Amino acid sequence: QSSHSATREKLGPRIVKNAMYTFIRPEGTQDPELLAVSKAALKDLGIQEDDVKSPDFLDTVSGNKIIAWDEEKQEGVYPWAQCYGGYQFGQWAGQLGDGRAISLFETTNPAGTRYEVQLKGAGMTPYSRFADGKAVFRSSLREFVVSEYLNAIGIKSTRALSLTYAPKARVVRERIEPGSIVARFAQTWLRLGTFDLLRARGDRKLLRQLADYVAEHVFGGWDNLPAKLPAGEVETTATQAISGVSKDTIEGAGKDAENRYTRLYRHIVRLNAQTVAWWQAYGFMNGVLNTDNTSVLGLSIDFGPFAFMDQFDPSYTPNHDDHMLRYSYRNQPTIIWWNLVRTGEAFGELIGSGAQCDDQEFVDEGVRKEAADELVSRAENLIEKIGEEFKAVFMAEYKKLMTARLGLKTQTEGDFKELYSELLDAMEALELDFNQTFRCLSGVRLADVADDEKRKETAKGFFHPDGVGAGNKIEDGQVRLSKWLEKWSKRVIEDWGEGKDAERSAEMRMVNPKFVPRSWILDEIIERVEKQGERGDLLEGTMKMALNPFEDSWSWDNATEERWCGPVPKYKGLTQCSCSS
Ligand code: AMP
Ligand code: MG
Ligand code: MG
Repeated sequence: QSSHSATREKLGPRIVKNAMYTFIRPEGTQDPELLAVSKAALKDLGIQEDDVKSPDFLDTVSGNKIIAWDEEKQEGVYPWAQCYGGYQFGQWAGQLGDGRAISLFETTNPAGTRYEVQLKGAGMTPYSRFADGKAVFRSSLREFVVSEYLNAIGIKSTRALSLTYAPKARVVRERIEPGSIVARFAQTWLRLGTFDLLRARGDRKLLRQLADYVAEHVFGGWDNLPAKLPAGEVETTATQAISGVSKDTIEGAGKDAENRYTRLYRHIVRLNAQTVAWWQAYGFMNGVLNTDNTSVLGLSIDFGPFAFMDQFDPSYTPNHDDHMLRYSYRNQPTIIWWNLVRTGEAFGELIGSGAQCDDQEFVDEGVRKEAADELVSRAENLIEKIGEEFKAVFMAEYKKLMTARLGLKTQTEGDFKELYSELLDAMEALELDFNQTFRCLSGVRLADVADDEKRKETAKGFFHPDGVGAGNKIEDGQVRLSKWLEKWSKRVIEDWGEGKDAERSAEMRMVNPKFVPRSWILDEIIERVEKQGERGDLLEGTMKMALNPFEDSWSWDNATEERWCGPVPKYKGLTQCSCSS
């Protein structure tokens, strides 16, 4: 849309039509300081550790040099910012776009995975609206750590390569703060809100082009999409819905109503169902699940007031401004589905017109107008059935994860109610820490739960040292957990037999992290870096723990390691972030 040589001034905030991105270069950073680099990210990008020391590295991640673009020859890859829209807190918010993220280039690692590398906090773009295009250090540190941590525990996420301090950038928030840039990368930065924007603009052509791009470029081809609805109940209901469509106004549509766009949409749905199952199983909350913060790839993306669950409270939201609890723990699956329904509506014509859309550019304009209602109702029908698939995929993934977290090998009929639900209810009532409960359980031997007395004693290890939560007596808590432990141990014996404590414990530790980057810990790091001027050792130690969260110790700083993995200090649990970032 814009010429590469246009000045930044000419590219001020504006509405951009008929395009999905704008060329724009980062502002550049005065005296940048490289604070941290993720070793896992280096590996995944195929960058050698030594290359980090080259001036080009810092120049690139601080936005001072555009390595993919040759200024003299005016060729190469010029940086760009993406255009997208979004529903924020349930309301259509119009065009948003990358207001402070600028993509630099794409790169394919030795394993063949392609990533888009971008800088967050590198300056204004045409999508900055009323804001400054900057990011403060505290929000950058949080995004840097959590991206890499989520990836380390197996939750799909956008990644972070480096964290750069911009001491001269005076960023005005509630106070004046130093700025910061995160170099981040992902297989795609496209969001559900990208589709929403084109739908809102009625830009059918670009919407179809975007869908084709996602299928071909992001997912690597139409053949990589699910072929047809999976077997079982989902298939029957969905097939009924599809074959139940009345005589078609549009020629050919009924033949193969599940066209390739339906498969594309279903793929996006399935990926997101899986990811939200992981969030629920690990107590992660994004905090602002607007459609512009929901990835087409089902990546965890755009970290603002995110948090991990401390003592279990399903109605907890980490977002201070979320008065309706829209983005609370308990609501996340529903909200992701709500967001996906908006995407389904954007796909309306593409999926509603069945085989027709596979064969030719578009449904004929005249026919489309005439058949608009039928297209919509057919699409709605499909979306509803795909909602069943969302539930089924979510449940299957969630059960798989909970089974593993509890150290079981199989799933039985009663597990959901008697093991998962009862454990969560007990955690809530007794204010047990969500992730520590699983880690603690990983170390419980069968001998520790052999009889009621032993189980009650073992139960004590799950409680916070300050007690078992308001209105609960320790003894009642012990009785409740003892009953649960009895059921659990029966299932363990069924799955493992006796005498397998060590093997089971080892497996459980691989799925139940010891380190969780809780908000109070991140706050401490931020304070120590900003106020005390701490640098290398603290951030290196943090990343050691974040990248290897299942270890028992990290040979870094025993006292800090134990404190960070220990009970959440009083008044530091379940805090909310009102952070302007
Ligand atoms: P978020 O809630 O962080 O996902 O941001 C919502 C929208 O506001 C996105 O389009 C962001 O790019 C934009 N935005 C947030 N902070 C800034 C900022 N400091 N400067 C420019 N745009 C911003
Ligand atoms: Mg965002
Ligand atoms: Mg944000």
